[in-house]
Amino acid sequence: MQVLHDSAAWLAYRREHGEGAFVPTMGALHAGHAALIRDASSRALRQGLPGGAVVSIFVNPTQFNDPKDYSRYPRTLEADLALCQASGCSAVFAPSEADIYPPGRPPRVPPLPAVARTPGLEDAHRPGHFAGVCQIVLRLFELVDPAVAVFGEKDWQQLQVVRSMVEAERLRVRVEGLATIREADGLAMSSRNRFLTPEDRVRALAISRALREARQAPTPDEAEGVLRRVLGEASIVPEYAVVREASSLQRPAAGAKVHTQRWRALIAAGVGNVRLIDNDAWEPPRPNTG
Ligand code: AMP
Repeated sequence: MQVLHDSAAWLAYRREHGEGAFVPTMGALHAGHAALIRDASSRALRQGLPGGAVVSIFVNPTQFNDPKDYSRYPRTLEADLALCQASGCSAVFAPSEADIYPPGRPPRVPPLPAVARTPGLEDAHRPGHFAGVCQIVLRLFELVDPAVAVFGEKDWQQLQVVRSMVEAERLRVRVEGLATIREADGLAMSSRNRFLTPEDRVRALAISRALREARQAPTPDEAEGVLRRVLGEASIVPEYAVVREASSLQRPAAGAKVHTQRWRALIAAGVGNVRLIDNDAWEPPRPNTG
């Protein structure tokens, strides 16, 4: 595995080895990231991509709307490199901020896809976040120039935003989404989980429990009621706890045919001083054909 610390070194690797399968990350890697890297590595093998699995590690300042969140974001490069190595990664691109954002020449922010602004979701609570995400993902896609990029479904809205941006910008990269990796008790793995106090770690389980219990509800409205009830039982007041059409993230239209659309239940909530997000597929119970 090679570790490239600036874009000149990366571009030399890219010229020598060719295109690969790309996993962009902000580091503080855990088993969720490892699953993405293993997936990228086996895709590269299957598809004969000579560059192998390529991981970027860069804590992108432009996507943090809270400077305190940015400064306390965990930076654990040595452990990250060990995890990359063990997960079948061929190259790590870990650039500095000055390399990605050369003073006086900020990279372009592409037009924000509509799905980034869907009312009531991330944009309502983290204004500017997706502009920063689109900026860094576009910059990395241009530098890394991969055949395929693997993202986690954990950040469901981000996955839809990246797909839309790739389409609008007519990029050649194929975007793949991978299911969320969870702790044994259901908590979605996140680099921020380490900041939970032991009590909040237990309360946080209400998030995945809410998503599971909502599966039994017969309509999107009732599913949202279940999400709020289960969170409320753990004294969690969510930023949002909703059921939306899975790719546009629009609210269900009045009289929508729930059986002919795909749905996603999505939650964002502060637990103690940690903001957590999670989501899951929601589908209405099959009509009884008995
Ligand atoms: P991050 O480093 O948090 O920006 O995440 C980098 C990539 O890892 C993104 O595509 C995330 O969606 C993905 N990811 C984060 N947590 C998980 C998880 N628990 N399971 C699967 N993918 C994840």
